[in-house]
Amino acid sequence: MKSKSVLQGVPVYQPGKPLEEVKRELGLEEVIKLASNENPYGCSPSVWESLTEEQAHLFMYPEGGAPQLRQELASHLNVSTDRILFGNGSDEIVQMIARTYLEPGYEAVMADITFPRYKTQTLIEGCTPVEVPMVEGTHDLDAMARAVNDHTRIVWVCNPNNPTGTIISHDALVSFLDRLPDHVLVVVDEAYQEYVTDPSYPDTLSLVEKDPRVVVLRTFSKIYGLAAFRIGYAVASPGIVDEMNRVREPFNANRLAQRAARAALADREFVENCRRENRRGIERIQAQLDEWGLSYFPAHGNFVMMDTEKPADDVFQCLLEKGMIVRSGAALGYPTHIRVTVGTPEQNQRFLQELAGCLHLPK
Ligand code: PMP
Repeated sequence: MKSKSVLQGVPVYQPGKPLEEVKRELGLEEVIKLASNENPYGCSPSVWESLTEEQAHLFMYPEGGAPQLRQELASHLNVSTDRILFGNGSDEIVQMIARTYLEPGYEAVMADITFPRYKTQTLIEGCTPVEVPMVEGTHDLDAMARAVNDHTRIVWVCNPNNPTGTIISHDALVSFLDRLPDHVLVVVDEAYQEYVTDPSYPDTLSLVEKDPRVVVLRTFSKIYGLAAFRIGYAVASPGIVDEMNRVREPFNANRLAQRAARAALADREFVENCRRENRRGIERIQAQLDEWGLSYFPAHGNFVMMDTEKPADDVFQCLLEKGMIVRSGAALGYPTHIRVTVGTPEQNQRFLQELAGCLHLPK
């Protein structure tokens, strides 16, 4: 059986090894994973309580379209309910956007280097990804605007950008939108939005209200600590939500995920504490890198991308042997960088100590 020819160029996602396997191989009791930008504090304790309430309903299909969560999220975001679309993780929303708006012959513009699913989903639809080099780890919006033509259907903006952690400002995004034609959709992926403390960060929900070309993606996987449940959402014009609902699987946001997300959303104190601790962690890590004279991209999410000035895979391996899993920049296009998720204060301290050992720096 021959698959669609475009699939020849589509990479298969390579998951990390299961933690238990890593521990067994290394003969270590404890391994700290700071590789996937997960929340080191887990999720709100109220999530567990809410799940027991759902126990009696596990034989039933989920409520398609997540009406209760939709209502609560709409009121939290102060947008109307018909502007929200849920996905099995925001990964699935990336896929739904591509399925809804791309067909062969079209192009999608994105930064080089950014979250890889934009490119993968573009290729699956038989379209051309146009990757625009970044400037100092930040989207080059001028060059991206110039890359847009009559064939462009989607422009992806990852803000904060994964893997660099950089942001573009509200003003920069607004003047970018001013330069784009009406036939493009601008998808602003804000998976790390809740972590951002910089006042120049865009107020994208106000832009969505005014501009039907703007789609915002967010997720419950990061600050809400629900990555295992797979639930994310888009905020867009009602027309776009209606179109994407045609490709959406009817039960794509499962019953437990909907319940967990409602509980997580209601616990604002948990979110606020995570934001504060994350900022402290970034400051601690960046201060140490400054002291060592190592450069890094200014971090606005829950991870720091730093230049180790050594081959990244070697640094990754050295840290792994000490029981710390980070992300090597080698496969991401940054041969001497590593990306580390901000952990608890103890995990950050341990990371810096092991990094000093691997790079022969003063501890
Ligand atoms: N967008 C970005 C920028 C991400 O970093 C991630 C997860 N690493 C996602 C989307 C997908 O998140 P999820 O599918 O868990 O919602």
